[in-house]
Amino acid sequence: MNKILKKAKQAIADRRFYANQEAHNFKTKALANPQFKQAYNEYVSLMIDNARRGLGENAQLLAKQKAYEDILKDLSIPYITPQHFCNKCNDCGMVDGKYCDCLIEEVNRLLREESGFLSLEEFENANFDLFDNKEYMKDLYSKMKKWCYSDFKKTLIFIAGQTGVGKTHLMKCMANELIKRHKVVSLTSSFAMHQDFVKSYSCRDLDEKQALLDKYLNAEVLFIDDLGTELRNPNITVNFLYQVLNERKLNKRPTIITSNLDLNDITDYYDERIFSRIVDKAYSVCVYIQGDDLRLKPNKKV
Ligand SMILES: [Zn+2]
Repeated sequence: MNKILKKAKQAIADRRFYANQEAHNFKTKALANPQFKQAYNEYVSLMIDNARRGLGENAQLLAKQKAYEDILKDLSIPYITPQHFCNKCNDCGMVDGKYCDCLIEEVNRLLREESGFLSLEEFENANFDLFDNKEYMKDLYSKMKKWCYSDFKKTLIFIAGQTGVGKTHLMKCMANELIKRHKVVSLTSSFAMHQDFVKSYSCRDLDEKQALLDKYLNAEVLFIDDLGTELRNPNITVNFLYQVLNERKLNKRPTIITSNLDLNDITDYYDERIFSRIVDKAYSVCVYIQGDDLRLKPNKKV
């Protein structure tokens, strides 16, 4: 999160820099005009004089301001004072010692951008009418939303179900909610993760080898989509997957997995160790979404 916050602060600082730079350029251009220069200098002198005498922005000063602004208009120069993106903080990112809304919005934008999700969904917009098991799904969505705001004592969520039953939609809702909580969310497909496992396995450079795994081990919240669709290699997949699941559990880092595999298939597909990491009552929640392929229904938006 610190990395994201730093990046967001930099983006706000850049906005301030460009606003100042642009205003400075316009001002330099305007001051090259003698008529403007005189009118502007008169305005500045009166402003200083007013300040000395404890007067603020009086009618006289406003008249001087209008005089130089009229010349600016004639010169087709839009402004000479910085036009800030955010008027609440003038692009400094803080208001009354607190983060300004613009900084928080930038943090959220970066979190969305870096999550790997191309789109996100809102829990509130879910259309349960599409599900045959409406009440079950309502209850499931409500439980999953609650989990997003929990302290993650249950570190692993396993969402199983056939293709097209709505797993991805639920996952997108959860990612969205976690981002609203300012969690750094990372999505990986099981396929891409497996490719990194293979690369790491055959890599001779130790740092590189570790870096390939670190993004899965250290992600604050990791979403693994479609577990079981990867090209399995018994020596590599199981060992690395176990390492990821185990270390994430030990470090209390939340992991959300979607899979077409039924829990009963896990042992056959991987092994007992993976099964015991996924089906662990104290630390995980396993759900199964039953139903038909929603994508084949007339109104496919869940
Ligand atoms: Zn602001």
